[in-house]
Amino acid sequence: MKKDDAGLVEVEDGVRAITGANTIITSVDKIVNWGRASSLWPMTFGLACCAIEMMAAGAAHLDLDRFGIIFRASPRQSDCMIVAGTVTMKMAPVVRKVYDQMPEPRYVIAMGSCACSGGIFKTYSTVQGVDTFLPVDVYIPGCPPRPEALIDGLLKLQNLIRKEEFSWSRWA
Ligand code: SF4
Repeated sequence: MKKDDAGLVEVEDGVRAITGANTIITSVDKIVNWGRASSLWPMTFGLACCAIEMMAAGAAHLDLDRFGIIFRASPRQSDCMIVAGTVTMKMAPVVRKVYDQMPEPRYVIAMGSCACSGGIFKTYSTVQGVDTFLPVDVYIPGCPPRPEALIDGLLKLQNLIRKEEFSWSRWA
C-alpha cells in the first residue's frame, strides 16, 4: 500500500489508517453519516398494495435487517418514512402528522406510482404525488415495485446520507 507524506494509508475515500497502530483517521461527518446510514429505521405503516411488497422486503427471504434497516412502530424512533401505497386526501394530513412526529434528520421514500404521482388514480380523492406535502428524498416507480426495487431505493438513500455535511464541519 502507498503511504502519503504523513505516513498514512488511504483505506477508502476519506478514511486513512496509521499503519501498525490499529488506528484510523476520518472526519466527524464521515463517522456520523456512517452511523446514520447503517441504522436506518423506517416507520412501520402501509397504505395500500405496495405495502405488501414492503413487508416482503423486510421478511426473511430478503432480510432488510442485514443493512441495519429495522422497522419501528413509533415515529419517535424512526428516521425514515416509506410511503407505500395510495394516499387519499383524507389520509394525507394523518401521514403528515406522523412525519412531523419523527425527529430530525428524517427521510422520505415514495414507493410506487401512487405515492410518486397518484398512479392510475387521477381522481379528486387521491393525492397526485406525496411530494405535494412531504419532502421526498427517493422515488421508486412501479405498480407495484418489487421488494428488490425498495431495497435499491433504500441503498440509494444510504448513499445520499453518506454524502451529507453538517454545520460542525463548517465551524472548523
Ligand atoms: S402503485 Fe400500484 S401496487 Fe402500489 S399502491 Fe398504487 S395501485 Fe397499489
